[in-house]
Amino acid sequence: MTALMWFRRDLRLGDNPALLEACADGDVLPLFVLDPQLWGPAGPSRRAYLARSLRSLDAALRGLGAPGLSVVRGHPATEVPRAARAVGARRVHVAADFGPYGRRRDGDVEAALDTDGLRLVRTGSPYAVAPGEVRNGSGDHYRVFTPFSRAWQEHGWPAPQDAPDHRRWLGLGQGQDGGTTELPDPPLPDGLTLPEAGEHAARARWTAFLEHGLEDYDEARDLPGTDGTSRMSVHLKYGEVHPRQLLADLARRPGTGGGTSGSTGAAAYRKELAWREFYADVLWHQPRTAREYYKTQYAQLPYDEPGALFEAWQQGRTGYPVVDAGMRQLRSVGWVHNRVRMIVASFLVKDLHVEWQHGARHFLHWLVDGDLASNNHGWQWVAGSGTDPSPFFRVFNPTTQGRTFDPDGTYVRTWVPELADRAAVPDPHDPSSQVRAAVGYPEPVVDHAEERREALDRWERIR
Ligand SMILES: Cc1cc2nc3c(=O)[nH]c(=O)nc-3n(C[C@H](O)[C@H](O)[C@H](O)COP(=O)(O)OP(=O)(O)OC[C@H]3O[C@@H](n4cnc5c(N)ncnc54)[C@H](O)[C@@H]3O)c2cc1C
Repeated sequence: MTALMWFRRDLRLGDNPALLEACADGDVLPLFVLDPQLWGPAGPSRRAYLARSLRSLDAALRGLGAPGLSVVRGHPATEVPRAARAVGARRVHVAADFGPYGRRRDGDVEAALDTDGLRLVRTGSPYAVAPGEVRNGSGDHYRVFTPFSRAWQEHGWPAPQDAPDHRRWLGLGQGQDGGTTELPDPPLPDGLTLPEAGEHAARARWTAFLEHGLEDYDEARDLPGTDGTSRMSVHLKYGEVHPRQLLADLARRPGTGGGTSGSTGAAAYRKELAWREFYADVLWHQPRTAREYYKTQYAQLPYDEPGALFEAWQQGRTGYPVVDAGMRQLRSVGWVHNRVRMIVASFLVKDLHVEWQHGARHFLHWLVDGDLASNNHGWQWVAGSGTDPSPFFRVFNPTTQGRTFDPDGTYVRTWVPELADRAAVPDPHDPSSQVRAAVGYPEPVVDHAEERREALDRWERIR
């Protein structure tokens, strides 16, 4: 039998249950569809990264003797059945998608295949435990993280599987019915550098983190001036590695809380992965929270229209060093440290009084790891309207946050070059007006103490 493997957010050969199912069918056509609905809004960082990841998958497939990854452009409900017909595939294999668009799209593809008597087979998902699986005693889903993470861990997940040792691959011929498009090669905007893409790069980064980062992760993860986090978010986003693999490796680490108990390294890391799974679960149950307030009463909070201050925030010219460092890091590498994501988000919502959706959209435009569930619920956490929100009255002070988490100013000096010179700028978190003028760094665009009061006044109005 011939099968089609439709890659989406699982751009890897190892530990890919859907691919193994396809291989069990017989001859396999590996396919990727450049869907304008996703490609368009992806933003320059994700488009460029995805293109590199596809090249890496293409090379890995060729290494197995395949003619490469077949790529077509268009709506999947048209292109997938067309490609399946072109090679005579009876079944189309995918890892299930749980996002609002992905669910709709897969329903359309399934219906289109069905009219030809073909089947869409869903095996696995981008998560250790698929959204919708973790339930409480009364069969309902969790609305708060801690009980979810406990039940998630108790639920457990299967062990990772090996890459297929498969020799029977197919490709779509150029110009044939469903003929292939060249692998995309979008330009990288000036000043943007991206991490290496692909399954091999993901594995290398993960191995280095296990060796050098895991032990101190619990403490170092909050310090943006150190290389204290795994940087796996982008690899997870594209499925260059599956969280199951990370969880299995963590469980094997002695002395780092690798077991189900334990409080350091591995346990802390497992908890962060659980946040990713929790937010995917929340989005699955309540797709509206991708755009709307999880706690609906927050929609009543009065906000300002985004204007010049919003632009200053986007450009990293607010005069608050840690905020500007974060916003410039975003534009330079398409990634921002988690602590700083919280600081810049709080600044936008509570100091500039701009609704979280504007910030979330800007993040999704530039983040290479941009993920609807983690991003938009992360924003809602900061805005006070999310599942386990940071209470609205807890307004981050950007100067003290900078001093606490970037005590020697390494982070700020790295991303705000005006403040890099230690002799000229002795206090990078709160430079004097004289220093700012001398190095060409702006004065604060707002007074934090005043805007904090203003935010709390607005909040009082909806309490
Ligand atoms: C406003 C805001 C927006 C965010 N947007 C995104 C996004 O678009 N995509 C994204 O993957 N993460 C997002 N996060 C979560 C977090 O900031 C990133 O996952 C993390 O910074 C990625 O770096 P890392 O892989 O080195 O993290 P590590 O500290 O090494 O964490 C390991 C993994 O755990 C998961 N994780 C860690 N923290 C969180 C969290 N708070 N929520 C969900 N998953 C988490 C990620 O998959 C991460 O790769 C956002 C957080 C906030 C506050």
